[in-house]
Amino acid sequence: ITVEEAKKILIANSYKLEKSEKRKVSGSSGYFLAENIFSKLDLPPFNQSNVDGYAVKLSLMNEWKVIDEIKAGDSKNIILKKDQAVRIFTGAVVPEVADCVLMQERVTIDKDKISTDGALTRGEFIRLKGSQIKKGDLAVPKDVLITPALTGFLSAIGFKKIKVYRKPRIFVIVTGNELEIPGNKLSHGKVYDSNSYILRSALEQIGLKAAKIIFVKDNKKKLLKAISECIRKADMLLISGGVSVGKYDFVNDTLEELGTEKLFYKILQRPGKPLYFGKNKKTIIFGLPGNPASVLTCFYEYVYPLLRKMQGYENLFLQERRLKLLRDVNKTFKLSNFLKAKASIDSVESLEGQASFMLRAFTEANCFIYLPLETSHVSAGEEVEVHMLP
Ligand code: AMP
Ligand code: MG
Repeated sequence: ITVEEAKKILIANSYKLEKSEKRKVSGSSGYFLAENIFSKLDLPPFNQSNVDGYAVKLSLMNEWKVIDEIKAGDSKNIILKKDQAVRIFTGAVVPEVADCVLMQERVTIDKDKISTDGALTRGEFIRLKGSQIKKGDLAVPKDVLITPALTGFLSAIGFKKIKVYRKPRIFVIVTGNELEIPGNKLSHGKVYDSNSYILRSALEQIGLKAAKIIFVKDNKKKLLKAISECIRKADMLLISGGVSVGKYDFVNDTLEELGTEKLFYKILQRPGKPLYFGKNKKTIIFGLPGNPASVLTCFYEYVYPLLRKMQGYENLFLQERRLKLLRDVNKTFKLSNFLKAKASIDSVESLEGQASFMLRAFTEANCFIYLPLETSHVSAGEEVEVHMLP
C-alpha cells in the first residue's frame, strides 16, 4: 500500500485513551485535563497593589501624611482618613478605603509627607479582587493540554490535585541475536544496540516513557512469550527488527499466532518498507524494521501521530511546510521517500547518507523531505513537502 493509504488505515484505527487518574498539579504538565475546573476562589483574592508606592484617599491638595506601611503578605487592614496615605508594595492588600495607589516614581517625599503634581484616577494601580476569575466560574475546560502556564493558574486558584487522562502504556521489544549492549566487548559479528536508545529517547522527547524495554533473541518461543506479556499490559507495543522476510524474522508469524489483526504490512516507502501495523484486543502493535534509520523514520511518521491521538491532541502528524530545495535530488526507486534533511527558514537541503542502516545523517537532520511515489527528480529551486521533526 502507499504511504497515503497506510496513514488512512492508521487514523481509522487510532483512538483516544479515555481512562483518567488523579495527579498532582506539580507533575501534570504535558497531560490532558480530564475534568472541568471551577475556580475555588476569587483571583486576585483581595484588592492588590499593582506597583510599589502609596495607597491614598483622593485629596484636594494632593498631599498626604504617611501613617503606616503594608508589604506583600501582610494582613493588616488600615483605615485611612482624609489626607492620609500608607506606604504599600506590589502585591500587598490595598486598604478598603483607599481610592488609588500612587506610583512611588511620581511622588515627592518630604519627611513623613508625600505629594504629587500628577492627576489621580480612582482605582489606578489597584488589581481588583476577582478581576481575573471569580469563585465558582469555569476556569479551565476539560480536554485541554496542561502547559506550564496552566499548572501555575491551577495552583493559583487553589488546586493541588486534578484529574488527567492517563498517558499510553508503551512496551518495547528489541529483537536480534546480533545485539550487544554498549559498554560490553563487541565480539565479531555483533553490533551495538541503537534501537532501544532511539525509541526510549524518542518517547522521552515527547513526554512519554517506555514502561518496559525487553530484549529478545531471534527465537520464536521467547518472542511469543514476550509479546503475549506485552499485549496483556500495553496500550501500545513497539517491536524493533525481525519483521522482514528473513528465515529468522519471527515477528509476523508470532503476532498472527497470537491472534493479532493485521491492519497493514509493507508500505511503498523508503526507508521502512516492511513496517507492520496491527491490533491485538486493545493493544496497538507496530513492527518496526530493524535498521536504525527505519525505526526512527517510522516512529515519527506513524507511531508519533498515533500516540498523539491516544493522548488527545488534534494535530497528529509532524508539522508540514513547503520549502525550496537547495540541491537537486533523485528518487530512483518506485517508492515514496523520506529523506533526512536540514531545513532553514525558507529552504531545505537533503543530507548525505540516506541508506537505512546509516544514522549519521539523522543526527544532523531536523526534518524529512517527503517525495511522493510519482516523483522521480526534483531540481534545486523547486518546492518540496517537508515534515518537521519535533
Ligand atoms: P532486521 O529488521 O531484524 O532484519 O534488522 C535489519 C538490520 O538492522 C540488521 O542489519 C540489524 O542488525 C539491524 N538492527 C536490528 N536491530 C538493531 C538494533 N537494535 N540496533 C542496531 N541495529 C539493529
Ligand atoms: Mg533481526
